[in-house]
Amino acid sequence: MVDRDLWITVMISVKFRFMTSRIDVVIPPLSQAFTYELPPQFSAQVNVGSRIVVPLGRRQATGFVVARSDDVTKKLPYALKAVDKPGELFSCFMPQQLKFFEWIADYYAEPLANVIDTAIPSPVPKRFSKTVCLLKAQPLPARSKIAPKIIAALQSAGGRADYGLLAKQIKGCAGALKKLEEAGLISVHTEEMALQQPFTTAVPEWAPTELQLNPAQQAALEALAGMTAERKFHPSLLHGITGSGKTEVYIEAIARCLERGEGSLVIVPEIALTPQLVDRFRARLGDQIALLHSSLNPRVRWESWRRLVEGQALIAIGTRSGVFAPVPNLRLIIVDEEHDPSFKQNDGLRYNARDLALVRGMLEKCSVVLGSATPSLETLQNALSGKFRYLTLPSRPQGSSVPAFTLVDMNRSRLYQRPSQNISSELYQGLIETLERRQQAFVLYNRRGFASYLQCEECEFVIECPNCSVTMTYHNSTNALLCHYCNMHIVPPEFCPNCNKPGSKSAATKPAKLVQRGAGTEKIYDELRELFPDAVIDRLDRDSATQHDQYRAILDRVRSGETQILVGTQMIAKGHDLPGVTLVGVADCDVGLHMPDFRAAERVFQILTQASGRAGRAAAPGKVVLQTRVPQHPSLVRTKLSDFSGFSEVELRARKLLNYPPYCKLLRVVAASVREHEPLEALTKLRRYAARLIEAKQFAIQVLGPAPAPIEKIKAQWRAHLLFKAKGSPQLNVLLKTLKGLPNKSASLKLIFDVDPQDML
Ligand code: ADP
Ligand code: ZN
Repeated sequence: MVDRDLWITVMISVKFRFMTSRIDVVIPPLSQAFTYELPPQFSAQVNVGSRIVVPLGRRQATGFVVARSDDVTKKLPYALKAVDKPGELFSCFMPQQLKFFEWIADYYAEPLANVIDTAIPSPVPKRFSKTVCLLKAQPLPARSKIAPKIIAALQSAGGRADYGLLAKQIKGCAGALKKLEEAGLISVHTEEMALQQPFTTAVPEWAPTELQLNPAQQAALEALAGMTAERKFHPSLLHGITGSGKTEVYIEAIARCLERGEGSLVIVPEIALTPQLVDRFRARLGDQIALLHSSLNPRVRWESWRRLVEGQALIAIGTRSGVFAPVPNLRLIIVDEEHDPSFKQNDGLRYNARDLALVRGMLEKCSVVLGSATPSLETLQNALSGKFRYLTLPSRPQGSSVPAFTLVDMNRSRLYQRPSQNISSELYQGLIETLERRQQAFVLYNRRGFASYLQCEECEFVIECPNCSVTMTYHNSTNALLCHYCNMHIVPPEFCPNCNKPGSKSAATKPAKLVQRGAGTEKIYDELRELFPDAVIDRLDRDSATQHDQYRAILDRVRSGETQILVGTQMIAKGHDLPGVTLVGVADCDVGLHMPDFRAAERVFQILTQASGRAGRAAAPGKVVLQTRVPQHPSLVRTKLSDFSGFSEVELRARKLLNYPPYCKLLRVVAASVREHEPLEALTKLRRYAARLIEAKQFAIQVLGPAPAPIEKIKAQWRAHLLFKAKGSPQLNVLLKTLKGLPNKSASLKLIFDVDPQDML
C-alpha cells in the first residue's frame, strides 16, 4: 500500500515537471513575497534557494525563490505574472536553510529578502562566459566596416576572445558578429566557467599533519564526537587557556565528521588576521575546505560557496558571514574565539554570528562548540547554568605553563627615569634578554598613529574632527591628522587655531604651539627603534597592513624568525600561534578601560589575556610585562593572576546588580541626524510611545534614556540613543516590531535598531 502511494507521488511530481508551476519570490529590500508562474522550460532549474530575475512593475528585479508549488489546480482570483527572462539560474542556498533565514528575519524584524541578501556573498559573478572563436578570416562580408576590425582583434588575440571584452573593445559589434557567425567565419560558444583552485600556495612545512592529543584534549574530543554522533542540538563551551590546543581538538572533531561524510562549519573572527590558522586545517584535512571571507576576490569567494551548495566540499571556514554557509549534511559548528566582538555586524542586518550559530545548530540539529580562553560572560553564564556542556583544557600541551607576569605601575616612575617615554625599565630589560636569547617579542599598543591628539600648550585646546566629536590622531608616517571614525585627513597646523585667531594679540606676539599628547603604535615603534637600533622591528596595524597579503607577509616574517620585535594594535593579540615569541609587552593596558561601555572591563581583560597568550606557546617559557596607571583595576589584577573565574565572578556580580547582560536582553535604538536637536526629540517621542505599549501589554521592560550618545557626532550626524532592557527576548521582539513599524516622516532622521548591541558608543 505504502509503495503504491509513493509510486503515485513520484508519477505526479514527474508529470508536474512538464507543467507550469508557481513560485514565491522575495526581492530585497521589499518585505512581502511575490508569486509568479514558472513556465515548464525553466522548471528543472528552479527550486527553493534559486536566484532568479522576475518582472516587477515595469522593471526586472532579482530575487530568491522561497517556495515552489507544482500543484496549480487551485485557481487564483487574479492573473499571475510569468517568469520570462530568469537570468543565470543557480542555487544560492539549500532549502533546509530557509527556516534559519526566517528565524533571523523574525528575530531582527527585517525582511526575509534582506536576510538572504546579507547571507549570500555578493556580488555574484557571472557563471557562464561567451567566447568568440575565429574559424576562417575570408571572405569578409561586403560593406561592413566593423567585420574586418573583429577579425583583426581575434587574430591578434590568438584566435579566441571573450565576447564581453570584444563588445567593449569594438563599439556596436553585435550585428557584425551575428553576420560573421552566419557566414561561418566565427563561432560563438557559451560555456560554464571553470572553478578556480581554492588554494594557490602549498601547505607550509611547519604545519603539523597529526598530533598525539594529550589526555585533556582527548577527553574534550571524545565528548564532542559523542555529541556529534547523535543527530541532536548539543551546545557546548570549550574553555581552554591560550595555547591549550583547542584548535587541534576542532581539527580532530572535523576529521571524524569528514570520515563519515558529514559537514562542518568553523567561524573565526578575522581570517585575514590569522592566515596561518587555515594552514593548520589544510595540513590535516586537505584542500576540501571552502574559505569564506571578505578579503577574498569575489569570484573565489563565490566559488567556495558554490562548491558547498553543490556538495563538493564538506568543510567551510569563514568569518561572521560564514554562519550562513550552505554546508551539506551539517553536523558540527565551531565558533573559535567566541568572545570576539567582530562576530557582531554593525551595519545593515545587525546580527551576531556567535548567537546565530547556536540558532542554526538548534534548527539543523547539530553540535555547536563555542571555544575561547576568555569566554564572553553570556556564554560563561550558559555553561555555568548547565544550558551548555562545559568542556575545559586547563594546561598547555607542551608542558610550558602560563607566562610569568610583571605589572608595572607607570605612576611610580618619572618620565626621565624611563628608557623612553612609553617603555619602562622592566619592559626594556625584558626586551634586552629576549633579544639576547634570540627569541622574539610582541609589543601591544591598542591605538594606531603617533600621537592620540594635538593640544595647545597655552589654552589646552584639542583638535577635534569637524565631522565627529572625537579627537584627531596624529600620524607621523603621513604627517597628517586623521579621524579614525570618518577618515578625514588634515595637515596638522603648527600653531593653535584657537588662541591664534587672526588679529588676536597673541597671534602677533608669540603664537602658541600645539604639542603631541598620548601615543600610538607608530610612536612605540619609533621609541623601540631608538632603543634597539640593530634589531629587526616591524609593525602590524591597519596602516601597515591594508591587504590580506601584507598581514600574511608580516606574520610569516615573525614565523621565520626574521622579525625580532613586532609592535601592533589588538591585531597582534588574535589567535596567532608563533612558537618563537616569548615576551609580550603591553605598553598601555588602560586604553579602552575608561570607555562608557558596560563591557569595557571585560574587553580589556580579554585583550590582555589574549595578548599574553601569545607568549611562550612552545617549549620556552613566556613572560608578560603589563604597563598601567591603574594597577589595582580588577581587569589587570586578574589578568596577572591568570584568574578568569575570579574576574568573571566579580564582573557577573556587577552585571547582576546593574541588570546588564547576561541577566537581561538589550535593544538599543540610535537616532542620527544632521539637525542637532532632532535625534533627542525623536527618541523622546519614541520613548513615550514605547512606554504606553509596555504599560498596555504589562511588559517587564525597563527604559533608559534617551541621552546623547557617548560619541555625540559621527560623520556630521548628531546622535542620541535609547536603551530597552528586558528579561527575555519575546517581549522585546514585540516592542522591536512595533517601533520599527512606526512611520518615519523626517528625511533627515535615521533610526537604527540594534538587537543585542555590542557597540554602546
Ligand atoms: P589554542 O587554539 O588553544 O590557542 P593551539 O591549538 O593553537 O591552542 O595549540 C598551541 C600550540 O600547541 C600549537 O603550536 C599546537 O600545534 C601545539 N599543540 C597542540 N596540541 C598539541 C599536542 N597534543 N602535542 C603537541 N603540541 C600540541
Ligand atoms: Zn571624523
